[in-house]
Amino acid sequence: MGRTLQLHRFSTSMEKGVTLERALEIANHIPMERNSESLPLDRATGRILFEDLSSLVDDPRFDNSAMDGWAVREADCQETGAVLRIVGTSQAGSAEVPLVGEGEACSIMTGAPIPEGADAIVMVEDSATHDGSVTINGPARTGFIRKRGENLTEGDRPLKSGNMLTPSAISLAATMGHDTVSVVRQPSIAVIGVGDELTPPGEPLSENSIYESNTFGISSLVKKMGAAPRRSELIRDSIDDLREALDEAAECCDAIITSGGVSMGKWDIVRQIMEDEGDVKFWRIMMRPGGPPLFGTWKGTPVFGLPGNPVSSHVVFTVLVAPWISKSMGSEGPQGPSMANRVRVTMQEPLRGAPGKLCMRRISIRQEGESLVATTSTHQGSGNIHSMVAHNGLSLLPPDTNCEEGETIDALWLF
Ligand code: AMP
Ligand code: MG
Repeated sequence: MGRTLQLHRFSTSMEKGVTLERALEIANHIPMERNSESLPLDRATGRILFEDLSSLVDDPRFDNSAMDGWAVREADCQETGAVLRIVGTSQAGSAEVPLVGEGEACSIMTGAPIPEGADAIVMVEDSATHDGSVTINGPARTGFIRKRGENLTEGDRPLKSGNMLTPSAISLAATMGHDTVSVVRQPSIAVIGVGDELTPPGEPLSENSIYESNTFGISSLVKKMGAAPRRSELIRDSIDDLREALDEAAECCDAIITSGGVSMGKWDIVRQIMEDEGDVKFWRIMMRPGGPPLFGTWKGTPVFGLPGNPVSSHVVFTVLVAPWISKSMGSEGPQGPSMANRVRVTMQEPLRGAPGKLCMRRISIRQEGESLVATTSTHQGSGNIHSMVAHNGLSLLPPDTNCEEGETIDALWLF
């Protein structure tokens, strides 16, 4: 009796058939918890900074030479052919540096400290040495001196919380004196595949069963976003097994992604159990492919119910789950992890849109002259994962619009 009643208990706050923007807005209200961990710099590539990183030093630390050559007084080198007395050498790392007085020059290497008294550098190519003196045959340039602090001063915070540690950011962190960094702990995300027909690859197939692919694909997407997937055993179309899997995932993971079972069918048990026993925030997005997803919580843990069709689950992950993971990790915009760049492309053939839905057809984007152009093959079924491999982009055709040959449209360039 209680069970029958439960079956009709819809979450009061559930929204149905939302736009992608609204879906993101709703999901972003329920982020994953953001925690930190400390990592040695050489294990931090690709990770997200937990807090701003400030410089422990000025960069450059002292005035130094940008060239191999001679540190001189500019005033001594007004005429070509000036002859200066050599007073010594300043090399990178040398503790003692000679003074440069009037009529004098000090041999200097790139990165070496500028001797007191010198205010310009002559390149070695513009000089000739002979017995303790040097003839200056080219210009003495003040611009060849790299000034203390011209890049950064101590306390500056050029790397911000949420920035991804790219190779250049790693280099900058080291330049600033950090050997360890505080990064966002990788969220652990459960990936659960649901369906009686599914058999793990590598195992014998029975009549009418298929190889399961989504939990592998979704786990790979999760990894690419800098999170840690936890792929669980496949779940049969059984409410009890699914409940157990969701309970376990909610215990040990920061978020849950399911695949399959969210449409209108009798066996769409992810949708059923989430409606009856979980808390659904939205169901269905006005997009194609990938219309059926849901988002909500199971015992407080965020859950994305992705469609079973492999293309749909990849597309929904790319446009919804990936930005949500980025935001949860405190990372937004071009400095954070992402699956795609938004670009403008000129279609070289017509594209059919979808009534009432954002239409994301798979397209092949390439540079042609000054602009990006795109074509598409006819392989567009949402069950055909090969179409995602064979193309490198998705059209962003607004609802109810078609695109003519030669028209320029918004698209996602996937990487
Ligand atoms: P569903 O969303 O469960 O109705 O599934 C839609 C389609 O996706 C069906 O053709 C399923 O066989 C297929 N499918 C569901 N889950 C997976 C999976 N994990 N791997 C590959 N195909 C799947
Ligand atoms: Mg199914």
